[in-house]
Amino acid sequence: EAKQRGWNFDNSYARLPKLFYSRINPTPVPSPEIVIFNDRLAASLGLDTQELQGADGAEIFAGNQIPEGASPLAQAYAGHQFGYFNMLGDGRTNLLGEHITPQGIRVDIQLKGAGPTIYSRGGDGRAALGPMLREYIISEAMSALGIPTTRSLAVVTTGETVYRETEQQGAIVTRIAASHIRVGTFQFAAKFGTPQDLRAMADYTLQRHFAEVAADENPYLSLLNEVIKRQADLIAKWQLVGFIHGVMNTDNMALSGETIDYGPCAFMDVYDPATVFSSIDSQGRYAYGNQPRIASWNLARFAETLLPLLSENEEEAIKIAENALAHFSERYHRNWLSGMRAKLGIFNEEVQDVTLIEELLSMMHKYGEDFTNTFRALTLDKPEETFLFGTAEFAQWYEQWQARLGRQQETKDLSQQLMRTSNPAIIPRNHRVEEALEAAVKQGDYSVMKRLLQVLSNPFAHTTEQSEYSALPAQTARPYRTYC
Ligand code: AMP
Ligand code: MG
Ligand code: MG
Repeated sequence: EAKQRGWNFDNSYARLPKLFYSRINPTPVPSPEIVIFNDRLAASLGLDTQELQGADGAEIFAGNQIPEGASPLAQAYAGHQFGYFNMLGDGRTNLLGEHITPQGIRVDIQLKGAGPTIYSRGGDGRAALGPMLREYIISEAMSALGIPTTRSLAVVTTGETVYRETEQQGAIVTRIAASHIRVGTFQFAAKFGTPQDLRAMADYTLQRHFAEVAADENPYLSLLNEVIKRQADLIAKWQLVGFIHGVMNTDNMALSGETIDYGPCAFMDVYDPATVFSSIDSQGRYAYGNQPRIASWNLARFAETLLPLLSENEEEAIKIAENALAHFSERYHRNWLSGMRAKLGIFNEEVQDVTLIEELLSMMHKYGEDFTNTFRALTLDKPEETFLFGTAEFAQWYEQWQARLGRQQETKDLSQQLMRTSNPAIIPRNHRVEEALEAAVKQGDYSVMKRLLQVLSNPFAHTTEQSEYSALPAQTARPYRTYC
């Protein structure tokens, strides 16, 4: 019975100290309907895709029916939002529990938009259809790009209206995550918990994500080091594809190293480190070029929560934490540099590579050139397709780059292969995402979104067939804006 429809729950979070969550069921909705279902993901999780695509699945993904073995709860956490500390928590999400896949992998099954909780602080606990579909599209695109991320299993409409600026259709997305333990979870533990609570959360996180270092001499230092590493790896991957998260609050940084919370995120088009899409980020705190610095700031907040565990002597603990934090930028930069070399087809290392890369980026910036398509054109060996082509600067740069490629043993073919696997041809272009959402939300036509998802599932396909999805919008009249 417990494995009905493939569900195989084991709810370890619910065995943590009570402080960390509150038990609550999702609030039922009037008429749930599945509008999009991720059968490939469902199959990989060992779920019964046939059964779940039907009316039964709609009831489950809406929170009307609790699957056998689930143990619904809302998680408590805190966090810095735009630099200011707040008490937060799952105000609109419900953790059904942890599902163990046939491969033995533990994943959170979470409903986002599942109704108010004790952490809702006046919010309605609900979500609108557009943003939930957006989360589905971008998270699946990120996954296909090989970037650690939460996944989207299904979106249901609820039959309810939610009120934002306008009336919108209510919806719920089922989010799959390695876990929902955040920097903010530890901030909550450090501020509101006993030392035992904090230790329990740290031990739990070690067991769940970093078991290989749990027996280290100072496991909490190892925990800090591993979280720093995963973030350095993750943020470098974001930068290399031009992903802008948009709201890197500490409650939106998962210790698993997965990208989480697809609110106002979007991909950069024209290369500009100051790029911001989010309507609420008026100061540019979370601009593209700031992301590494913000990650490092968030990690410092994480390290602070661990101080009592790092050493009994506070001064000593601070020294340990500072040493660990210093490794972030070093590792981030190393990742970024090797990723950029790969984007240019470079295998070996020369000191001047940084200059070669920075010169290209600064030309893109100066001439307002599209980030993804510049690398795509170079990958296809069609430099004439970039707007840079024809400028004296670019001609000189191109010559230097070709000479650089000549100073390695690998053939031109191998170089191109490396570029083809390092430079996506397809990213979720803002106008394509909007077009898909508009057809779905306004007309109930999901074919545009499904076609887009299909193309996004193979982002490194440099084929002419998909080139319409690489094209820029016909006109870029007003700057693109995203909303939470
Ligand atoms: P987010 O912007 O998604 O990271 O959410 C920030 C905080 O606001 C979290 O504590 C959320 O649970 C909460 N929150 C966001 N939207 C709602 C909503 N519609 N109702 C209740 N709480 C919400
Ligand atoms: Mg969030
Ligand atoms: Mg959000």
